[in-house]
Amino acid sequence: MEEKTKDIQQNAQGLALNIIPYVPLRGKVLLPGTVLNFDVGRTPSVNAVKQASATDNLLFISAQKNAFIDAPKPIDLYKVGVVARIKSIMKSADGMKVSAQALYRARVLEFTESSGYTQALVEKIPYVCNTDGNMIEARLRIAKSLLLEFAVFDKRINKEMLMTISTNGNSDEFIDNALSVLPFKEGDIQSILETDESGERLDKFSELLAKEIEIAKIEKDISAKVRQSIDSSQKEYYLREQLKAIHSELGDDEDEKSKLSDEIKAKNLPKDIEEKCLKEIARLDKINPSSPDYSIILNYLDWIRELPFGNMTEDNTDIVKAKEILDKDHFGLEKVKDRILEYLAVLSLTKQMKGPILCFVGPPGVGKTSVAQSIARAINRKFIRMSLGGVKDEAEIRGHRRTYVGAMPGRIIYGIRNAGSSNPVFLLDEIDKLSSDIHGDPASALLEVLDPEQNVTFRDRYLEVPYDLSKVMFITTANSTDTIPYPLLDRMEIIELTGYTDEEKVEIAKRYLIPKQLIANGLTAEKLEITEDGIKEIIKGYTMEAGVRNLEREVAGVIRKVAVKYLEHPKMRKQIIDAKKVNELLGIRKHVRDLALEKDEIGAATGLAWTAVGGVTLTIEVSLMHGKGEILLTGKLGDVMKESARAAFSYIKANAEKYGVDQTKFENYDLHVHVPEGATAKDGPSAGITMATAMLSALIGKPVRSDVAMTGEITLRGKVLAIGGLKEKSLAAFRQGIKQIIIPEANKKDLEEIPKEIRDKITFITASSVEKVFDKAIIF
Ligand code: ADP
Repeated sequence: MEEKTKDIQQNAQGLALNIIPYVPLRGKVLLPGTVLNFDVGRTPSVNAVKQASATDNLLFISAQKNAFIDAPKPIDLYKVGVVARIKSIMKSADGMKVSAQALYRARVLEFTESSGYTQALVEKIPYVCNTDGNMIEARLRIAKSLLLEFAVFDKRINKEMLMTISTNGNSDEFIDNALSVLPFKEGDIQSILETDESGERLDKFSELLAKEIEIAKIEKDISAKVRQSIDSSQKEYYLREQLKAIHSELGDDEDEKSKLSDEIKAKNLPKDIEEKCLKEIARLDKINPSSPDYSIILNYLDWIRELPFGNMTEDNTDIVKAKEILDKDHFGLEKVKDRILEYLAVLSLTKQMKGPILCFVGPPGVGKTSVAQSIARAINRKFIRMSLGGVKDEAEIRGHRRTYVGAMPGRIIYGIRNAGSSNPVFLLDEIDKLSSDIHGDPASALLEVLDPEQNVTFRDRYLEVPYDLSKVMFITTANSTDTIPYPLLDRMEIIELTGYTDEEKVEIAKRYLIPKQLIANGLTAEKLEITEDGIKEIIKGYTMEAGVRNLEREVAGVIRKVAVKYLEHPKMRKQIIDAKKVNELLGIRKHVRDLALEKDEIGAATGLAWTAVGGVTLTIEVSLMHGKGEILLTGKLGDVMKESARAAFSYIKANAEKYGVDQTKFENYDLHVHVPEGATAKDGPSAGITMATAMLSALIGKPVRSDVAMTGEITLRGKVLAIGGLKEKSLAAFRQGIKQIIIPEANKKDLEEIPKEIRDKITFITASSVEKVFDKAIIF
């Protein structure tokens, strides 16, 4: 290199070679014949400029391929650039501002590092023209007209500029001048700069222009569309504003608002609520009708307008008539009806709703909802039902604030609006299925709803104004009281509705379900009769429940099938559906009522449990396995049940000798107790004696009677303690064909509540000690 700079002063074409300080440019291409102002900040460039200005003012300038590289290496630089003469240098905050006139095109052959800057060994490369003059002229004209066309799109290229560019110099100068003002990509410009032959340069230039014109056209198209859509929304806005002006000129708008105000005033709202609404109406004036705030206010006012503030239905205070209605709607349920009538009597005397809230508790399908409905009919109130099952967000009860997107009042206010009166019977179904999560506790919100001290001024977050719920008659339902939050339970009076016996079910079906379903399916008693046998067959073969919901469903199924037959054969005679016909219509039996255990077995005993869906029978299995006298518990057992199993085991172990259990059994065997899963979880102590029976049977190898079921809690000393839900449990045992039930002595008094029909068929044996239980259940 040293050698070259000193000795070779000419290139192959005889053109001079020069060594010149080098400045790389970011994002710009300097073209021969043009002037360029640029900033110089990087130290090597500043030094190069200083070096040049100290000598002949010449710089070699070429563009960086990538503008973002701070310290470019030779590979990052375009080899073709220009040799330029510095015209002026000005100091600036971050370096210097240089103005330079590009003299000629040049190519770098070699870069060398000098003291603090880069030197370039460059050769001048003039343009060459191998094209015929006319061809050049023709192409030049095309290029010029394209340039004119492009100028139409780009306002930065003004007329004078175009004039100077187009009239001065030859085709190469034209291209260089034009490129220096055109906003094209530096890669494209560089590519033309690197092209030597004039004809070729013109072609490239024209191609580039044509491409840019095409892009500019597309751009214009898109921006027109965008503008159009902006324009149309602006237009809509102006039109709306005009419309508003016209309306207010004509007094229409005022009409609308004054109508709203009149309606609000006519509702006789409490003073503060009326004032709030009028304020909201006044706010409408200040808001653009197309803004979301406007419709939020209108929505709110709609809610207030539709709510039945102070609007109440008149109660029927005639207790005799109320009793008639309750009797007409439901079979049996005497205790429940009596309690309801007492409640209504107090209500009609005191005219206050301050008493406890009624809570109907019982398995599904026993008539909780329909009794509540019937109460509403009996006292002539509107009826609203809301299920609380799965409600876990407080906002569902109390609503969302208006600032919340899509805000609405909570379900209580929603229900009141649907009822259309402020004193409906409001049924809160499944209060035992409430849950809570991070969004607050719905139970506490509900407490506020149900508490007569607080519900006079119930505040829904959406309404913002208090609503008087004190005249609403709230009734709740639950399958069991176990999961009702205590504060709520404390407010309520529990009324139990138990399951029905088969006889009762037959009566309910005859008197209520069949007539109801006949009407629902467009048939009459003249066309269809289900015999008592038929009904019994449905109950026994197709349902297994404490209530009558499935019975109603299956009855409806039978009636529908017959209805279809009538459609096919309109002249058909009256259809009498007996047990056989039921089987034909409903298909094979879904349930077989047999003994819970088919035969007497060793290590298996039948227990009775009381679950959310009513009473059920459960088989407890025990088997011996080689081990070390441990107890292993599997199946769906709750904690209390596990404790009972341990207590039973300890009792037997302690009294092994008395029952003839070989002590070595406890040393060499483990006892595995299993409670088959079943659909519902069971817990509670009442399986104690059943587990003890199954354990002893397994340990001594004697079978347990399969037609005996039992229920009772066991103590460590072998006493049998009282249990709950005897009626439900005996109904379940009856459904399973059990002949004898062993119950705790302490439950003897509850036998009165067991329907006679069941007492006739099942023998109840009372026991105060486990010894007696074993005696009756195990075949020694
Ligand atoms: P729950 O609310 O307890 O789950 P429903 O009130 O929905 O049960 O009752 C289911 C169906 O059974 C309803 O059609 C209801 O009218 C009917 N029903 C339940 N018990 C009786 C009864 N004692 N007398 C007449 N119909 C009854």
